[in-house]
Amino acid sequence: MMLAMRAVVCHQAELTVDEVPDPRPEQGQLLITVERCGICGSDLHARLHCDETAADAATLGYDHMMRSTDRVVMGHEFVGTVTDYGPRTRKLFPIGTRVVSLPVLRASGAMHLTGLSALAPGGYAEQVLAVPSMTMRVPDGLDADAAALTEPMSVALHAVHRGQVGAKDTAVVLGCGPIGLAVIAMLKATGVRHVIASDFSPGRRALAERMGADVVVDPAQESPWASFAESKRYLTDSMELIGFGVDAMDKLRAVPLLPWATLMRGAVKAGASPRGPVVFECVGVPGMIEHVIANAPLLSRVVVVGVCMGADALRPAMAISKEIELRFVLGYDPSEFHQALQWIASGKVDVRPLITGTVGLDGVPGAFDELGDPERHAKILVDPTR
Ligand SMILES: [Zn+2]
Repeated sequence: MMLAMRAVVCHQAELTVDEVPDPRPEQGQLLITVERCGICGSDLHARLHCDETAADAATLGYDHMMRSTDRVVMGHEFVGTVTDYGPRTRKLFPIGTRVVSLPVLRASGAMHLTGLSALAPGGYAEQVLAVPSMTMRVPDGLDADAAALTEPMSVALHAVHRGQVGAKDTAVVLGCGPIGLAVIAMLKATGVRHVIASDFSPGRRALAERMGADVVVDPAQESPWASFAESKRYLTDSMELIGFGVDAMDKLRAVPLLPWATLMRGAVKAGASPRGPVVFECVGVPGMIEHVIANAPLLSRVVVVGVCMGADALRPAMAISKEIELRFVLGYDPSEFHQALQWIASGKVDVRPLITGTVGLDGVPGAFDELGDPERHAKILVDPTR
């Protein structure tokens, strides 16, 4: 007899609750009974645009990313209890231990992203498979709701690390959806003193404040750049710095010709002007990167976290004039995942304001639609036991 479990299956951009075969752990796998699984923005993207992502992944040599013709159980932000191990698999945790896991699975001879490949069904289901070495025990006292936020908080922590933001730097977070809000929390947790957040939605601005943003702006009313230094002043400064460079060159005729930016940076280091802020682009719609290039101050570092599907246009010459630095980020490493879990458990980051709803498996299709409304929702959790 084939045992079956309930799961949300995505096929041809449609979500349906189906009976699927029970996952059986193979060697090197453990079985987790899902308590909660967060619905991620990338799942909303994947439902509609997975063929683009699959084509990109195929170009990079990976052929098993979810496609619209596959039947995929999504969900990569899961927490649950250890239920079984595959044969000859090290039993790192007693049965019943509450754990979170990086959403990766070794199956059919290769590594797959759990919830984003038909070969590694995800957490919108009663049970999910994981790799013991990528699984972490949830500290005592931390409930499943908060633990389910480990994965998105890790994404944010990785973005903050890649941004190399110093405590005295100004950080600007554009877009206060779940990831923008998580970035705000992680900036504050890592000790960044001045965090400016910007979003058109009043509901999201209120959440940005709760997550610790120091200044919250409505971009329809005021520019996020105006609140700390006007970009015009920065350009004037840069011309003054070029003058500074000319003076310096006059004095040091022996010095070989240096690029202006190097001279400016030298002046910046000497305290002539603050360097640009670190900007976190967490909107992910076409035109956002160009918007930042056009409006951010000189020498801004831009960390692109929001996933914009399809092609986008930007003006390299403007970015060159201002020496804008672009960094793109993806995922996290196991140490960042572990750090996020510990900070959630210790209360150093408070993820509770992010959780705006919980649904059973039957509520997942509706929740995907509702997440389009920024006033009502940040993170919706799936509770398959409901
Ligand atoms: Zn996610």
